[in-house]
Amino acid sequence: MNDLLPPHTHHWQYLETKLQTILESYAYQEIRTPLLEATELFSRSIGEVTDIVEKEMFTFIDRNGDNLTLRPEGTASCVRAAIEQGLLHTPGQRLWYKGPMFRHERPQQGRYRQFHQLGAEVYGLKGPDIDAEIIALTARFWKTLGLDNLTLQLNSLGSKVTRDHYRQQLITYFTQHLSQLDEDSQRRLKHNPLRILDSKNPHLQTLIAQAPQFSDYLDDSSHTHFTELTQLLTHLNIPYQVNPRLVRGLDYYNNTVFEWITPDLGAQSTVCAGGRYDGLIEQLGGKPVPAIGFALGMERLLLLLTQQNKLPEFNKLPHIYLILTELTLSSGMHLAETLREILPTLRILTHCGGGNFKTQFKKADKSGARFALILGEDEIAQQQVTLKDLRSSQPQITLNQTELVAYLNPILNQLTT
Ligand code: ATP
Ligand code: MG
Repeated sequence: MNDLLPPHTHHWQYLETKLQTILESYAYQEIRTPLLEATELFSRSIGEVTDIVEKEMFTFIDRNGDNLTLRPEGTASCVRAAIEQGLLHTPGQRLWYKGPMFRHERPQQGRYRQFHQLGAEVYGLKGPDIDAEIIALTARFWKTLGLDNLTLQLNSLGSKVTRDHYRQQLITYFTQHLSQLDEDSQRRLKHNPLRILDSKNPHLQTLIAQAPQFSDYLDDSSHTHFTELTQLLTHLNIPYQVNPRLVRGLDYYNNTVFEWITPDLGAQSTVCAGGRYDGLIEQLGGKPVPAIGFALGMERLLLLLTQQNKLPEFNKLPHIYLILTELTLSSGMHLAETLREILPTLRILTHCGGGNFKTQFKKADKSGARFALILGEDEIAQQQVTLKDLRSSQPQITLNQTELVAYLNPILNQLTT
């Protein structure tokens, strides 16, 4: 779990603002849900036999004896909220969220125990049009951020009936090769054989490659859905790769699943992942309402932005360091408040803690501020202030308050140091 310090917080703010602007351009609205939920919500939605529920959740019993979990992902909470708050009465509800998620994993680059996701969920639309919209939205993220080297992988997990049928075929196949399976996969074979396809164990890759292919079992309507989606993506100029092994780590998906992957992040190659989960809302006690969503990992996206050198320079240094004396302190603080009111983007650092002009000038210099604004007793007597450009050899100037605002206003936008 990481502390986030400046200047990294500036990078986060930049990224969050960019992504929010794009989500709003597709008319998605933000939802915020609690970090804690009943443990059962996650075991019932994500699935008992998944990495998350089996070994990654931070779970505890609270003072009332309730079994609670720090949310490991956002979809289950959104669905719970949508059911409880009656959001499902309006079909086509488009929501987005962002915030910390918690998984007890082995920390490494791009994998943390508290990490941040930004995601979106759409309820009540079943066609491939909304799948295409969601994917286009994510594609626009990368485009706007100037990222490249991201590939869209796409697959269809079909309907529940075909998945059950395919599941049987997989069980038969892997049972024939039981001795080649590792411990994890042997355990999954009974409850969740699809997850074996997702195994990262290099020794299993040949066996997995020869397993029956989902696409051979796809039902007609799932096949049509997938074809229409790929046609829309082609029209939108969004390249994709069909990856028949893409099953995703969570149980609730059906039909469309997708991941955006990159070779630039080492082992943690998935930046964004999502899919359709038409059965989940009903499974959690709501009406049978189709749904689709995605989530992206903010830390991985920031690593990628850094890697590809796509983060702009940020300067949040003060524009002005205000120098005062004991006797001008209250007028000085009042002046600073007035300036902030008139010039809301001006960054003023007011000197605190006393000291003579010399020490204050030293601190002004060290602060990185562009100007020192001096309010001494002489200035008060003459109802003026002195402004010294700390980054040039220009002589200092004396101004009244109106002149000061008139001087700062036009140069505020181009002030860099
Ligand atoms: P992975 O296969 O990398 O473990 P996942 O399938 O568990 O990912 P999802 O649950 O689909 O991931 O979460 C969506 C995205 O959130 C991931 O693609 C990734 O970018 C990010 N993410 C997931 N787990 C972590 C983590 N522990 N630390 C940082 N980011 C994460
Ligand atoms: Mg994971």
